[in-house]
Amino acid sequence: ASTLQVGGPRPYLLHVGPGLLSDAGLLARCLRGRHVLVVTDDNVAPLHADRLVDALTRPGLTVARHVLPAGEHEKTLARFGEVLESLARLGATRDATVLALGGGVVGDLAGFAAACWMRGIDVVQLPTTLLAMVDSSVGGKTAVDLPAGKNLAGAFHPPAAVLADTTILRTLPERELRAGLAEVVKYGAIFDAGFLEWLGANAGGLLARDDAAVTEAVLRSCRYKAEVVERDPYERGERALLNFGHTFAHAIEAEQGYAAAGDGLNHGEAVAVGMVLAADLSTRLRLARNEDRDRLRALLERLGLPTALPAGLKPGALLARMRLDKKADASGLRFILWTAPGEARIVTAVSEDAVLRTLEAGAS
Ligand code: NAD
Ligand code: ZN
Repeated sequence: ASTLQVGGPRPYLLHVGPGLLSDAGLLARCLRGRHVLVVTDDNVAPLHADRLVDALTRPGLTVARHVLPAGEHEKTLARFGEVLESLARLGATRDATVLALGGGVVGDLAGFAAACWMRGIDVVQLPTTLLAMVDSSVGGKTAVDLPAGKNLAGAFHPPAAVLADTTILRTLPERELRAGLAEVVKYGAIFDAGFLEWLGANAGGLLARDDAAVTEAVLRSCRYKAEVVERDPYERGERALLNFGHTFAHAIEAEQGYAAAGDGLNHGEAVAVGMVLAADLSTRLRLARNEDRDRLRALLERLGLPTALPAGLKPGALLARMRLDKKADASGLRFILWTAPGEARIVTAVSEDAVLRTLEAGAS
């Protein structure tokens, strides 16, 4: 396995490689006390929880499981409260550890519960989706959704460690794999043109879940995220670059309704469309070149991702959503725009007219 250090106020190690979930020695080194709560969801539990719990079993350690119903619409305060109740039943002390075994939903919710139990206990992130490996498990943001909006209640609570077992991705549904690849492309788009080239050359291997290709993509993505998080742990500045494509994506997600997981675009798909729109807006503002936007779109298409706005989403309604987005401020709309492949910058006071024209052109 390969190991990276994520610096910042509370540094931690991130391990990437095959078979980490059954590595008893590595798991033991991630624990401090006698209590462990494995939080997972009802898709992941039957596939992977036994392997993990078997590797944890040793005298003196009490391990309990908390299985959530799967899905974004379960990332609620009520479910968060149930995890705290499980910690209470376990008799968890200050040195207890929460193991978050799942995608970003489990990671965010279990991480937030760990942040709150006795004002903060260790969480070890065991991401099981590609999105969680390259994005949500690194960086310390935890949250639940409220009826008023996504991720409205949360905390910064960096994990004690992250263990990304790449073999676990073999059971991931195809569509979730592609959604994770959208976030991988994002790192290339904003940090490394060479990585974009590499992704184009390895698209087939990635879609086939070739171990070497997936491990390389996860490691490189995590390295970019770790570097940014280290320099800006509380998102006061450049960490916002990671929101490339996300202002559009959040508007799409909000407009189609978060709960409609079946029909609408999922987060990664919305980010793919959002990145093409952001690149297009960048060309309209003469920051980026048309051919670079077209190559980005072609790469996303090769990875099986959507690049056009779904029919039925109205440009005016999407624009209205963006005005409400937290990235808008008094000076007008704020976007992460593309200056060249591998480079992005935060641009404030973007004209609504240019955004509207981008959205109108984006439907095809
Ligand atoms: P998810 O957790 O809902 O997982 C997607 C689906 O895949 C679920 O049905 C899950 O049960 C299933 N699944 C997970 N791993 C599997 C496996 N190995 N085999 C088979 N099925 C598996 O979604 P996600 O895309 O991982 O995460 C999305 C969430 O992450 C959102 O709530 C988002 O807000 C959050 N997020 C947080 C951050 C952060 O910095 N904290 C960053 C990005 C996203
Ligand atoms: Zn994202």
